[in-house]
Amino acid sequence: MKLATWPILFFLATVPAGWTQTLGNDDITYTVQGATPEREAVLRRQIQVMNPPVLPYKIRFVPHWQYLHAAKTYQLHIPTGMASKMFTHLPSRSIFIDEDLYLGEEWLGHWMAHELGHLATNSAREDDAERVAREYRRRLEKAGR
Ligand SMILES: [Zn+2]
Repeated sequence: MKLATWPILFFLATVPAGWTQTLGNDDITYTVQGATPEREAVLRRQIQVMNPPVLPYKIRFVPHWQYLHAAKTYQLHIPTGMASKMFTHLPSRSIFIDEDLYLGEEWLGHWMAHELGHLATNSAREDDAERVAREYRRRLEKAGR
């Protein structure tokens, strides 16, 4: 299956086990949906700088209602009172971003580092994700200087 067929699969799609990443060109290894071209360019650049060992398959910017719906679909518990901005569905390597909470490039990099931490450790635990995210944020900071 080619990546170009992804949009029609919408977010209920699951990724068949055994898929492998295409190596060599970062731009074609994952799709970004729902972002403005500027925002997508920023995000791709940040991910390139963070250079995670595991890339997502798909990153989706969605409005808040859709974010909640996706979380519910994946039976993800979002604690009330804690502002959830992004989440990662590990089996499909999909990252969802609540675009209604978007606060700029720094915000994007900070929280994307966390989500990429989940992917790198293949763990849903927050401390596992943060342990890796700290290194990614260091790389972002270094690149921004
Ligand atoms: Zn997390």
